[in-house]
Parts: sequence; C-alpha cells; structure tokens
Amino acid sequence: MCGIVGYIGEQQAYPILIKGLHRLEYRGYDSAGISLINDKGDLSVYKAKGKVSMLEESVKEKDVTGTIGIAHTRWATHGEPNAVNAHPHYSQSKNLALVHNGIIENYKSLRAEMEKNGMTFCSDTDTEVLVQLVEYMQNSHKCDLYTAVQLALKNVIGAYAIAILEKSKPDQLVCARKGSPLIIGVGKSDNGRAEFYLGSDATPIVEYTNQVIYLKDEEIAIMDRRGRLDITNLSNVKQTPQLVTIQMNLDQLEKGGFPHFMLKEIWEQPNALRTCIRGRLNVTDKDVLLSGIIDHKEKFLKCRRIIICACGTSWHSALIGKYFIEEAAQIPVEVEYASEFRYRNPVIYPDDIVIAVSQSGETADTLAAIQLAKSKGAFLYGICNVIGSSIARATDSGTYLHVGPEIGVASTKAFTGQVITLALLGLAIAKEKKTLSDEMFHMLVDEFQMIPDKMQWTLEHNKGIDKFAQMFTYCKNFIYLGRGYNYPVALEGALKLKEISYIHAEGYPAAEMKHGPIALIDEEMPVVVIAPKRGMYEKVVSNIQEIKSRKGKIISVVTQHDTVVKGMSDYTFVIPDTRDCFVPLLAVIPLQLLSYYVAIAKGRNVDQPRNLAKSVTVE
Ligand code: GLU
Repeated sequence: MCGIVGYIGEQQAYPILIKGLHRLEYRGYDSAGISLINDKGDLSVYKAKGKVSMLEESVKEKDVTGTIGIAHTRWATHGEPNAVNAHPHYSQSKNLALVHNGIIENYKSLRAEMEKNGMTFCSDTDTEVLVQLVEYMQNSHKCDLYTAVQLALKNVIGAYAIAILEKSKPDQLVCARKGSPLIIGVGKSDNGRAEFYLGSDATPIVEYTNQVIYLKDEEIAIMDRRGRLDITNLSNVKQTPQLVTIQMNLDQLEKGGFPHFMLKEIWEQPNALRTCIRGRLNVTDKDVLLSGIIDHKEKFLKCRRIIICACGTSWHSALIGKYFIEEAAQIPVEVEYASEFRYRNPVIYPDDIVIAVSQSGETADTLAAIQLAKSKGAFLYGICNVIGSSIARATDSGTYLHVGPEIGVASTKAFTGQVITLALLGLAIAKEKKTLSDEMFHMLVDEFQMIPDKMQWTLEHNKGIDKFAQMFTYCKNFIYLGRGYNYPVALEGALKLKEISYIHAEGYPAAEMKHGPIALIDEEMPVVVIAPKRGMYEKVVSNIQEIKSRKGKIISVVTQHDTVVKGMSDYTFVIPDTRDCFVPLLAVIPLQLLSYYVAIAKGRNVDQPRNLAKSVTVE
C-alpha cells in the first residue's frame, strides 16, 4: 500500500531515496518521510504531509547528506495523514528510526504495556509502537538491533514490511517482512564495493541493479557496506537468499509523453495484450499453450469447481472469466470477494481449484483467501501482473499477465490483461477437456488474435471523448448497464468513474433496472448502456426504450454501423464487431476514456485519486 525505499552503500542516499519515493508514490501518498545518518553520525528524520514534492520542499535547507537512509510514502491506516503520523518514526531515545508498511493489529495492548513502563508516544500510529518495542527489547535484553527486531516481531500480530536505522551503527541496515512485500536489490558501486537497495516493489531498484532478493514472510535481513547480507527467520535460523534477475525496462516506469500514466496505460493496451498472448496463442496451429495448465493438466481435468477470489477491478475481470470458463470448459465457477471469503467458513473441496486474481499479487485479502483455500487442500492458481509477488509465490501454478508495470491507480491495462488471461485459461482447459468443437475452438483462436488490432481501432475511433466529457462534469450520478458478458463491464465502467472523478456511479445488469433502480431515472441521469449487436441485442434495445421513456440520457457503446441504438442515444461510442465473449475487451475502452476525461474536466488528479492506493496490502 505504502512505499518503502532504502539504501546503504557508497553513494549519497538522498537522491536515490527521493527518486525511489517518486516511483512508489502511486502506492500511497498521504505523507512522505526520510531518515538519513550523516558523516557526523546524526540520525535525521524529515517528514511532510502530502506528496513527495512537499517533502523535497521542506528539506531544502536541511542537511541531507549520508550514504545510508530509509524513506516512506504513507497510506494511513492508523492516525490521520499528518506530519506527526508520517514515517519514519523515531524510538524514544531517537537512536532508532523505522519505516513500516502494513498494520500492527495488537498495537493498542503493546502500547498500553509500554506506557505502563514509562514510555511516551508522539503519534497515533501503530508503527510507532513497533519502533518503541524494538528499543524496549534492546534495552531489556541488552541485545543488538537484529536480535531486538526478532524479539519484537515475535510479539507482533499483523502485517509488516519494515526497515530500520540505528544511529550508533551507521554501517548497517536491518529490514523484515510478513504479509507486506519487501525486495532487496543487490548492487555494486563504481569502485566495486557492495551496495544494497530496498523497495516495496522493484520500481525504485531497477535503475541501479537487476539482481534482487524477494524477502519471504517472517524473514529478517541485515546488510552492510562490506557486502554482508544475512537473512534469518524469527527463530534465528539462517535462510539462503535466492538472487533473482528481474526484467523491467526503465521506459515502462515513465509517462512516455502522455500527461498521465492512466492515459498512457489505456493506449498501451493493444501492445500489452500482444505481449500477454505471445507464445500462448498459436494461430498457425490453432492452439493455446499455457504452461500453468499443461504442467497440472490432471488437476484441471479432475476439478469439480473453480472458485475465483479477487477484489475491486480484478473481481470484475473474474466475473467475465467465470462466464467464459463456464461456457468454454463447462466447469462451474464461483467468483468471491476475497475479503468476504476469507472470513466465512466456505465449503472448499480438495478437488476445487482456487484462482487468485490480483494485479500487484500483494492484495492482502486475496492472499489470505488463498491461504485459507490451501489449508482446505485446494489447488491454487495465481493470475498476477507483478513478477515474483506474494500471490505468485504462494500459489501452486499460475499465469503472469505480462502487461508491464501499471502505475496509474485506476487499473486499465491490468483489467484487460486479466480478462485475456482468464480467456486463455478457459480455452486451455477447454482444449484439455475437449468441451469445444474443433471448429468453435479454431474460430475463437482466430478471433482472439484479432483483439489487439480491434482495440487499437477502438482507441483511434473514440479520441473525441475528451470534448464530449466536459458536458458531464455537473453530474452527481451515473448508471452503467450491460447484460451477459457486458454486465461486469458496466460494473467496471462505474468503478472507474467513481475512482477518479468522484462522481457516484452504479453498474447493473440491464434487465434489473425495472426491479428498483429505474426509480432513479430522470432527465438529469446519464445512463451508459453497453449495447453491441450481439446476443441479447433486442433485449437491451427494450431496456434502453424503458429508460428513454423516463427521459434518461443515453450514452451507448455500439457496434460499428449500428443505427438502431445509435438513433435512440444522445451519445454513442463505436467498437468493432467481435464475438460476445471478447466484447468486454473493446467495450471497456471508451468507458476508461470517458472516466479519464470526465475526471480531467473536473480537475482531478487521475493518477493519484484521493484515498486510494495502488496495491492494497492491508486488509
Ligand atoms: N499502519 C501504518 C500507518 O498508518 C502504515 C501504513 C502504510 O502502510 O502506509 O502509519
């Protein structure tokens, strides 16, 4: 959720940390802070409410020298977003400074205990309790920082990724994780000496090294400038670090001439999806090759049911996946909100396959949901974008989206990437189970292959949405309607608008209107209807008629050359014709553009909408 950056080496830490914070700012941006140890041995902490630029502004006159440091962008969970609650937090003696991502669930009882022992606290955060607890352990056990961190973490309930500096030990950096991600980058400075980087994900690290270690749950690491990197678990058992080479290109982390990451990512979709299907869809041989399925073919052949766990936008793509898998592979599929699933006592059979869908692969609720499923013996399959993420590692098998890093908080290319991946999965299972005729299978493969070009066409033909979006800035509500495969698209369109323009919007199955929501329709209400000339077209036309008779404003997404719905609509967006199951991949594009341009017209910060963060690593 928030972002952690760290550095120890020969270079000045401040520029590395600030650049890293900017790269991570999409994860959380209530406040930012930095801590450094300078050559005189001072341990400084600077923090500011707001964005990283506010922090930069506030340290202009300050001493920011030092070759070791930690930094943080916060997404507040405990205590309002202000400078006092911002990280890093000092311990009482100011000998330690700590940054934290996650939630310490038992912070109240820990704090009460320490207050009884005379310790005082400055902030309302759960995080300050942790740094105080580490110092308390150091003092009461007369031990070094590393041991104190181990002891402290044994008393902690919750999730954490932490990095800690100790004033009297300017040559070492200590970090740990459980539940929240933390990556160590292993580099070499110009003179060949060791240096280490820390990041909540790889984005602040890739500029300096592609050699990383994904810290595992309940692991603690210590690094120093002589190249020492020791990792143990909470019981002090030594762990062998696994160095992984990551492939991420720096251009993918920049805006590339677009005003916002979101717009860049919307336009990237055709290419992103080409990468996603490359090597997996073989048009010449009319085949689908998904190693995640091939390697576990028996599981998929035997499975009685698939349960997909997801949150937010991923839940919408999961719903489309359900329709596709049921239709193509004839396996019943349930789609669950991971946050609900994990706290119920759901019936899970050992021959169930549980699929986790999460862009970041770090979504705390989804991770907990699959852990529950694992404990009941289900086979776990992960669909994530971020390589090496927690969900990718916690599952038995899986498929990466390969759509490149998604920085805009409102998901766009990851959504279409997930839909494509779930469709590939459905086809791959259908192939194994022989549930589709050869003719149908070949037809779907051929059509699949054309989707990226059709997406490009859709983008080119809906450029004018920017002018038209102005008209809707006054609206307080929107309704989105779709049927069949397009019902989840209606949900996703409504979510996009809410997320970045702060206009209230709801998605419904079109036919459900008459069971209540139609009461909301009047001349003020824009209704976005996804009405391709495909299955249920006539039914949707009737639904539009019902809204028109109540004076609602119709904005429709129609198939190229459609005249009927176009004639009934106040505004139309066109998409090329495709099979029903692929319509969501095209229909969502004008809805993404609509929400983007309405938000821009309202002056919103589309890449960093209020209260939201990119990767929801807290429950
Ligand atoms: N729970 C901590 C806080 O509210 C950390 C939040 C975060 O992950 O940014 O300060």
